Amino acid sequence: MHTVLGDATSYGMPEGQDPGTVACRDAAKESGMTTSDWDLIVIGAGGAGLSAAASAAERGGRVLVLESEGAVGGSMSLAAGMFTAAGTRVQEALGVQDSADRFYQHYMDLNQWRLQPGLVRSICEAAAPTLHWLMDLGLEIPAQRSTNAHMPGLGHAGVEDVWRGHTPVGEGYAVVELLERTLRTHGAELALGSRVDGLLIDEGRVQGVTVGGEEARAGAVVVASGGFAQDRALVDRYFPAARAAGEDLFVVAGAGSRGDHLRLGEQVGADLAGEGWGLLLVTAYFQQHHHWDSGFPPPSRIHVNAAGRRFMDEDVSYAVSAGLLADQQGPCWMVFDEAARLRLPDGFLDWTPARVQEEADTGRTLRADDLPALAGAMGVPAEALRRTVERWNQTLPHGTDPEFQRHLTLEAKGVVDPLPPMVSPPFYAARLVPGELVCTHTGLRIDPSARVLDAVGDVIPGLYAAGEAGGGVLGNRYVGGGNAIANALTMGRIAGLTALESARD
Ligand SMILES: Cc1cc2nc3c(=O)[nH]c(=O)nc-3n(C[C@H](O)[C@H](O)[C@H](O)COP(=O)(O)OP(=O)(O)OC[C@H]3O[C@@H](n4cnc5c(N)ncnc54)[C@H](O)[C@@H]3O)c2cc1C
Repeated sequence: MHTVLGDATSYGMPEGQDPGTVACRDAAKESGMTTSDWDLIVIGAGGAGLSAAASAAERGGRVLVLESEGAVGGSMSLAAGMFTAAGTRVQEALGVQDSADRFYQHYMDLNQWRLQPGLVRSICEAAAPTLHWLMDLGLEIPAQRSTNAHMPGLGHAGVEDVWRGHTPVGEGYAVVELLERTLRTHGAELALGSRVDGLLIDEGRVQGVTVGGEEARAGAVVVASGGFAQDRALVDRYFPAARAAGEDLFVVAGAGSRGDHLRLGEQVGADLAGEGWGLLLVTAYFQQHHHWDSGFPPPSRIHVNAAGRRFMDEDVSYAVSAGLLADQQGPCWMVFDEAARLRLPDGFLDWTPARVQEEADTGRTLRADDLPALAGAMGVPAEALRRTVERWNQTLPHGTDPEFQRHLTLEAKGVVDPLPPMVSPPFYAARLVPGELVCTHTGLRIDPSARVLDAVGDVIPGLYAAGEAGGGVLGNRYVGGGNAIANALTMGRIAGLTALESARD
C-alpha cells in the first residue's frame, strides 16, 4: 500500500510535520466533531469530489472533503469547463433538438458498444439535471453559439451529432468556486494538504480513511481523487498508447493526478474498467504546454505520413486525432511554409515565429529551400510530397478540401477566409506526436449508482467512486467536448447522493 503524503514544506508546514494529518485533525477540531462524525468522506476536491460533497451537504449530509494539494480544484480548475449534456435549457433556447436517448445512442455507437449500457444510460440521463442544478446555483451559460472551447455558450468539438458542449462563464474554475462555496454554505468541512493513503474496513464495509497515522470515520466514502496522468509508470501500464510520444509527452492534468484511486481500490479488491484508454492530443514534438499557453500551429499546414501523403483533416476533433495518427506506419509530420511561420502571432510559449526558427536552427524541426530537399530530410518520396502540396494548394486555398472535408471543420470553428497556399520557401517539417496527455480513463469499476464493484461484480459496501477515479464512463472514444467534465460532475453528484442515502441507512 502506497503511503506517501505530500511534501510538508510545499504547504508551508514546518519540516517533518505531516500536513495531511494536521489538516485532517484541524478540520475535525474546528467543526467540533470527533473523527467518526461524518456521513460521508470525499477523497479529492476536484470536479467529482466537489460535486459529490456539495450535493450531499445540500441534502443535510455531514461531509468531510480531504484534498491532497494545497488548493482545491485539481484538473477541473485548469479546464475550459465544457460540459456535454443533452436536452438542456441552453439547447432549447437555441432551438437544438436533443434528448438523453439520442445522447445515449451516440455515446454507445461512438464507443462501439464497448461500455456498459446501464452506466452510460445513467450519465446520459443525469447530465442535463446536473447542469441545471449548477445553473440554479448560479453557473452562467449564455444561450449563444460558441465556436471555441473557451467561449461561453453552446459549442461542439467535432464528434457530436448535435451541439452539446456547454461552456460556462469563468470556465472550469468558476465551477470549482461555485461548488466550494455551496458545500461550505451547507456546513461541509474541507481539509487541504490531506492525502488519503488507506481505507478503513470494518465488518466488510468501508467506514473511513487514513491520512498518515490519523483515521477519519464515516458512513460511506467517495473516491474522487482524479486520474494518474502524473505517474509515468501507471501511464505506461494502463495507457500504453501514450508511450508513442516518448520523451515528448507532456501532462496538463492537475498535480494530484497520481493514481491513488488504483492503490486504494487494490486494498479492497475493486475491479477496474477503462484500461488502455485516455485522452491524448496530437501536437508537434516541441509543443509542451496546453494551447492557451502554447498558442496554435499555423492554420495553413498539412499533416503528412511516411508515404508523403496527407492522412487526416488537420483540424479534425481532438477526440479522434490521436487514433488517426496511431493508424499510420512510420513517422508523421506537420508541413508548412515560411509565410505560415511568419504569420504566427507572438506572445505564446511554443507557437511563435521565433520558437519555430529556433527549433529549425537546431535541426530538430526540418527546414529546406524546396520540397524535394524537405522530402529527402523527412525520408518520404519526393514526388509524393510535391503532389500532396500541389493538390492542397489547388483545393483548400480555393475553398474546399474534397479529400478530407477540412473546409467544413474550419467553417464550424468560425474560420471564414480561405487559407493561404503553401508556396514560400523555406519549407518546414515538424514531427507529429500524441504528445499532450489530458486525462486517463482507467478507474475503479462502478455501477450506474457509482457504487464500486469487485472482481465478481458485487458491490463493495460503503465505497463509491466518480470522475476519472470511477471507471467505465469514459471510453475509448471521447464523445465530444465536455465528456470528462460531464463524467466528473454528473457521476460525482450521483455518488454523493447515493452514498449519503446508504450512510443514513
Ligand atoms: C488543461 C485541461 C483542460 C481540460 N478541459 C476540459 C473540458 O473543457 N471539458 C472536459 O470535459 N474535460 C476537460 N478536461 C478534463 C477534466 O478537467 C477532468 O477529466 C476532470 O476535471 C476530472 O475530474 P476529477 O474530479 O476526476 O479529477 P480532478 O478534477 O483532477 O480532481 C481530483 C482531486 O483529487 C485530489 N487528490 C488526488 N489524490 C488524492 C488523495 N489521495 N487524497 C486526497 N485528495 C487527492 C487531487 O489533488 C484533485 O484535486 C481538461 C483537463 C485539463 C488538464
